[in-house]
Amino acid sequence: MTRIAVSVMVQSLEQGLAAAARAAEHGADLVEFRIDQFADPANFPQVVELVEKSALPCILTCRPTWEGGLYEGDDQTRIALIEAIGLAKRPPAYIDVELLAYQRSANLRQKVELVVDHPGQVRRVDTGLILSSHDFTARPADLLQRVEAMASAPACRVIKLAWKARSLRDNLEAFELLKARHKPTIALCMGEEGLASRVLAKKFGALLTFAALDAQSGTAPGQPAVSTLKGLYRWDKIGPRTKIYGVIGHPVGHSMSPAIHNAGFDAVENGFDGLYLPLPIPPEYEHFKATVGSWLDEPGLDFRGASVTIPHKENLLRFAREWAPAGGDPGRNTVEKLAERIGAANTLQVRDDGSLYVCNTDYAAALDAVCAGLGVERAGLAGKRVAVVGAGGAARAIVAGFAQYGASVVVYNRTIEKAQALAERFADLPGKVVAAAMEKLCDSCCEVYINCTPVGMHPKVDESPIPPELRPRPKGKEGWGPGTLVFDTIYNPVQTRLLRDAREAGCRTVTGVEMFVRQAAAQFELWTGKPAPTETFRTVITRKLGG
Ligand code: NAP
Repeated sequence: MTRIAVSVMVQSLEQGLAAAARAAEHGADLVEFRIDQFADPANFPQVVELVEKSALPCILTCRPTWEGGLYEGDDQTRIALIEAIGLAKRPPAYIDVELLAYQRSANLRQKVELVVDHPGQVRRVDTGLILSSHDFTARPADLLQRVEAMASAPACRVIKLAWKARSLRDNLEAFELLKARHKPTIALCMGEEGLASRVLAKKFGALLTFAALDAQSGTAPGQPAVSTLKGLYRWDKIGPRTKIYGVIGHPVGHSMSPAIHNAGFDAVENGFDGLYLPLPIPPEYEHFKATVGSWLDEPGLDFRGASVTIPHKENLLRFAREWAPAGGDPGRNTVEKLAERIGAANTLQVRDDGSLYVCNTDYAAALDAVCAGLGVERAGLAGKRVAVVGAGGAARAIVAGFAQYGASVVVYNRTIEKAQALAERFADLPGKVVAAAMEKLCDSCCEVYINCTPVGMHPKVDESPIPPELRPRPKGKEGWGPGTLVFDTIYNPVQTRLLRDAREAGCRTVTGVEMFVRQAAAQFELWTGKPAPTETFRTVITRKLGG
């Protein structure tokens, strides 16, 4: 069973012991004492006490600066430390020594071999030796030679490799090392792109993964907090057959989707054996194609779907036209017709036969959020007059959706040419689509108003895309009132200035959270085949937005 080791930079005996106790409370299995800054000979008795009194079995590591650590001393002191540790009544579970140090110093090798378990050991010793290799810049060119050297060292019980991921594809090599292991192995990628290797270490049977005690105290780039690993990333539920999903975008660090979908996997009846990760991929199509293609091809990864966001919504459509599993035919992939018309898709599903289904749940979510507000079915939108403010990506999906169901749509935009281009693009759909300048909003007489601009979004929460001077007051007709529904696609804040103004004028309102929840719910149901726990989604979003 893959274990969690919380890595702690030791400053004092008391702080190290307290950290180990907290790690145990959080459910960690091991603690790694990083004594880089505490390895002064004067502290050796305290290091021994730290190891003996630790609330968890420990890994003892003194990482030198030349390997990315903070220890500035020489190997002589480290050798003396190893000797001192050998006398501890309760020795560490593991000591970690860099492969390079182990290879170049016969003296260090000899002293290490006296205190660790290995085939030539003459007494009973419980401590295992981790031979480790780190590269904080990229995958080392000689990675496989390093593995080989560790594998063939008789005293090495555990192989540890860590390198900075340059792309999500680095994780796949970490998985391959775990799959091919002949000894217990730790294979981790550092940085944002390496998160998958840390979380999926359990899926691929690593000896352990490292975690931080809290968000501020990591000892390597990209180390998640133990609470994040156990809570957000469902550590205890991960197994060899767990299906993998994620949000593909650039950036994706602040996406709420991992919290929503992972909570959903827990909330459905009997649970769902899935895990959802942030998947950052640089904007260019070539990156998207190479990365998503390699993740789909990785044996045993079970990569079964993704939410796709800016800037990859167009790339996803192209990918579905071009990509097929080895020996397969892209013709077996299916793209939802309206997603093709919109020119953007946000959902990838990998079907059981390996072919892809690609669709757009944004437009459907917006339609259904408005329908729920109006109390009608989608067919009831025919003939309704809808004003859309904005002519970007969200507007494109929403205009197409409403026009497809027969609504008459007027697109208002700061740059009128973009509104005109959008109207022309959807001229052949059942509903009528026309463009108008923003100043004409005050003459409008629509039943539904939809904001598809970022105006009013956090932090500029006092702005509105429909300020008082543009508020609809058509001649001879009623302006905003109980017969009007106003929908803001912005969800942060939930109650935007636009919605507050609309409610004051007596309008019904729909928040961007409704759209967000529905687009996520449609994805969830496609992937899991189970009804989405939308109340759980709403609770997670509200909590994330501080509501
Ligand atoms: P986008 O492609 O960048 O388009 C932005 C649109 O807003 C453009 O038409 C732009 O006008 C207009 N705009 C930007 N700043 C403006 C300003 N200061 N004054 C007037 N108009 C302005 O963005 P998008 O992808 O369509 O996203 C728009 C919004 O939709 C986002 O802010 C997001 O909150 C929301 N959204 C919500 C959900 C959800 O699930 N709730 C999903 C997707 C999007 P120009 O053409 O003149 O530049």
